[in-house]
Parts: sequence; C-alpha cells; structure tokens
Amino acid sequence: MQSETVSPPTSLGIHASDRTADPAPSAGWRNPRPARKYNLVILGGGPAGVLTARAAAVWGAKVALIERNLLGGTCLNTGCIPSKTIIRTSRFYADMRNAESLGARVPRTITVDFAAAMKRMRDVRTRLSRGVSADTLSAAGIDVYFGEARFAGRNTVVVAGETLRFKKALIATGARPLIPSIPGLVEAGYLTHESVFELTECPQRLLVIGGGPLGCELAQAFCRLGSRVTIVQKEPMFLRQEERDAAQILSDALARDGIDVRLNTEVLKVRKQGNEKLVDLISDDYSSTVAVDHILVGIGRSPNVESIGLETAGVHFDTYAGVRINDFLQTTNSNIYAAGDVCMEHNFMHIEDASARIVVRNALFWGRERVSALTIPWCTYTDPEIAHVGMYVREATRRGIPVKTFTIPMHDVDRAVADGEEEGFVKIHVKEGTDKIVGATVVARHAGELINNISLAICSHIGLRRLAKVIYPYPTQAAAIKMAADSYNMPRLSLARKWLLGRWLAW
Ligand SMILES: Cc1cc2nc3c(=O)[nH]c(=O)nc-3n(C[C@H](O)[C@H](O)[C@H](O)COP(=O)(O)OP(=O)(O)OC[C@H]3O[C@@H](n4cnc5c(N)ncnc54)[C@H](O)[C@@H]3O)c2cc1C
Repeated sequence: MQSETVSPPTSLGIHASDRTADPAPSAGWRNPRPARKYNLVILGGGPAGVLTARAAAVWGAKVALIERNLLGGTCLNTGCIPSKTIIRTSRFYADMRNAESLGARVPRTITVDFAAAMKRMRDVRTRLSRGVSADTLSAAGIDVYFGEARFAGRNTVVVAGETLRFKKALIATGARPLIPSIPGLVEAGYLTHESVFELTECPQRLLVIGGGPLGCELAQAFCRLGSRVTIVQKEPMFLRQEERDAAQILSDALARDGIDVRLNTEVLKVRKQGNEKLVDLISDDYSSTVAVDHILVGIGRSPNVESIGLETAGVHFDTYAGVRINDFLQTTNSNIYAAGDVCMEHNFMHIEDASARIVVRNALFWGRERVSALTIPWCTYTDPEIAHVGMYVREATRRGIPVKTFTIPMHDVDRAVADGEEEGFVKIHVKEGTDKIVGATVVARHAGELINNISLAICSHIGLRRLAKVIYPYPTQAAAIKMAADSYNMPRLSLARKWLLGRWLAW
C-alpha cells in the first residue's frame, strides 16, 4: 500500500540525458504505508544500509530502508565506482603515452576526450545503479522510504511525516567530506568527491589537498587525463598508515607522472584572483604560491551524526569518530546497531558487506559475531596499487609479536617483467619461529587482486609454508606469493637436505 507522495531527489547521481536506470524512482514515488512494527528500520541507503536490508529481507524480516538522497550512497554515486571508472580511462592514457616501452607506436599528440571519459563513468554508474533501485529493493520485499530519517524515541523513527516503530534499527548514515578551515577556501570555492565527478571539462591546473587514498588516486587520475596537478600533504609521506617503502614508491610514481608533489606542506590560505585561485603553501620555512583553476579537498570524511535524533534514542556519539559501537556493532541503545562510515575506523565498501552480515546475525538472530574477528584487506588504486592485509610490522611490535618478513621484488617475477610492470613488491610477515601469516603489503600494478590470495590464507589459517604447495599457472604475477613461500621454506629445506645428504654419504 502506498501513502504520502514525496519529492524524489533531483539528482539521481546520473546526468538526466544518460539516465537508463534510477537508483531512486522517478517523480511520483510514494512511500509505503508503514507496517505495524518493523523487525529492522535502517537509516541510510548507502552500501551498509542496502546490503543489510537485502540480507535481512532474505531471512524474512520486515525491513524499512530510508534514504534522503541517492540509493547506493557514496560508493555508487560519488566514491568507489566513479573514481575507479575514471582511473581505468586514465591508466589507458598513461599506457598509450608509455607505448614505446611495450614496442608500440602511437601518435605523439594523444588528445584526451574528457567528456567521453566522464560519459563512460556515468554510463557505468547508471548500469550498476540498477541493482539498488527503489523498485528492485521493493521487489525484494523491502519498504523503501525517501526522506530525512530521525529517531523520535528509543523505538521509533520518523520520515516524511510517518512514524516507523521498530524492534531493531541500524544507523548507516555514512559520512560527508571533511572541509579544512583554511582562510579564503570557502570564498574561492573548492571541489570535493561530491562535485568533482560532475566536471564537464578537465581542469587545466588542479591542486589536491590531502595525500590519503582519495587524494592520491584522484591526483594521479586527473594528471593522466591532462591536468597539471599539485598535491599537498601535511605529513612527510603519502598514505600515512602504509609502510614507508610502499609510500615511497607511490611518491616516486606520482612525481614520474609529472605531479608536483609537496610533502610536509600545509595550505596557509587561498585567494581568488580573476578566474584563478592563488594558494599559499608553507613547507618548514619555505613559502610558495601556486596558481590553479580548481582545488580538490580530499582530507577525509566526517560522520553524519547530527540531526538524526541520536540523543533522543539514547545513542552516544562524537562528531569526529561517529556513533559509539561495541565489538558486536551495537550502540549504547542495545536495540540500535550502527555500521559503515558513520562508526567504523576504516571506511571501505567491503567492510559494509561484512558488517551487514554481522548486523543481521546479531540483531535479528542470536549471533555474537565480532568486528574484531574480521580480516580486512584494503587497496589504494593508484598505479602501482598499494594493498595491505593484517598487521603492519609496527603494529606487531606494539603487540609484542616478533615477525620475520619475506619480500619478493616484482622485478624478480617473470610475468611482471614480461608485462613491463616491475615496480613494487610482495612482502609477507610471519610470526617468528612459525609460518603464521600476520600481515602483508603488496605494491604492484594489480596489488588489489594479488592481496586476495594472502587474505584467503589468513582467513583459512593457512601458513606460509603450505602456500609453497599451491601451483600457480606460469607466468602470473601472483607467483610472487609462492616465491615468498619458497623463500620461507628454503633455509629449512637446505638444512634438512644437508643433513640427509651427509648421512647418505657417510653410509
Ligand atoms: C572518492 C572515494 C572513493 C572511494 N573508493 C573506494 C574504493 O575503491 N573501495 C572501497 O572499499 N571504498 C571506497 N570508498 C569508501 C566507500 O565509498 C564508503 O566506505 C562507503 O560508501 C560507505 O558506505 P555507508 O553505507 O557507510 O555510507 P554512505 O555510502 O555515505 O551512505 C550513507 C547514506 O545515508 C544517507 N543518509 C544520511 N543521513 C540520512 C538521514 N538522516 N536520513 C536518510 N538517509 C540519510 C546518505 O544520503 C547516504 O546515501 C571511496 C570513497 C570515496 C569518497
């Protein structure tokens, strides 16, 4: 049954001209009439909300999903999908410029068709939006509401004039771009991931503030699409949490692409002069000014915790770290759970998938699944990619776990040499005296794919010694993992072999 007509979002994350499927229904969508009581009411229709809604509905739960803007959230509309799509095109242009190294000739002047690249991005987004459209979700038995959701009590949520009563609720309101308080920035104007994918022309000169995954990925992509890019990072290295050797390879790669890399640098202020923006920078005692056409802010995201009635519902939060949760994803109101960017330490789409399963088991059944038990890999999709799983050495040291590290440089891997993709390494840490893998970092063109073998080994409690038994087709870049396993076995083998041979000869 249908009730009040609500205004649908004006932008559906797709240009009207390209629209073939809607992550929200077209004008005239009517929110459903609320059920007497829901098993689960979900605030936020990003990955955390949608995946949980789907999983709960499969088990027969009565679920309401509320979204105030675009179903699919950041990942589909302004995050993972648009960024990975333009990264793909930008890699292609980089490969063309590098054609000679592969024994090919292309015209010296390659023209970037920025409009076509952005259209492809929108087409891909439109195609992937079909799976999360309001109609698809409704057909799966989910009551989809559009409007601003807010707790009105410990067991009720209001949206678009309706009150929804729940047994359990999930806060999955995500996060928004964090904007630094730099004098003049607001007046001069800036882009964030919410607006950069709407550009119709490639900026001639672009300044990126922030050297985390978002800043580095987009700086490299726009540089390869033709922008003159400057990237400013406050810290002495990019990707603060990654190991130094990995971050160094990335700095070198960005610089080689032609990006003006400014590490240890802060933005002091921004001024507008005619059509350009003058950005004053300081690095130790060295001051400089960069003139650009656009500034992209990519320093992180702020959790959406305001104006959703968390106080009324008895849910504790802080505006920096987000909703406070325990290891079971439960908030300080035991009937309300939280998942995704609004509460998690790491912000990745694949964590939302894992947390959706935890919420369904813990909230609707008798599960006691813990977030701390998850093995979470991640990847920064620069070229080369930087992927990690498990502990870093510094983390292991902090926990008093001695580690031994096995590193294979990609230039020792036949397939990487054949592909002309020799930059990077596979580095696997084991607990000393055992073959238990405690962590790994992969820097390689396809590190995001390679890391999965190691995650699988960690999850399945397969030690590095046993990985040597896995047969990889020759030649593959993943063979680097087997080579690391072989180097683990090598000293043990040679000792054993030496002893055996000695006995044999003596006999
Ligand atoms: C540029 C960029 C690239 C990224 N690339 C990757 C990647 O390659 N891989 C990866 O794993 N992750 C990536 N991420 C991170 C990933 O997009 C997020 O971790 C993920 O989208 C978080 O999902 P979520 O459901 O928690 O929040 P969101 O996706 O932010 O969704 C929250 C939803 O809640 C809605 N909402 C908020 N308040 C209310 C309210 N009061 N009422 C109703 N609805 C509300 C919002 O409109 C939004 O749709 C990227 C992020 C960015 C910005």
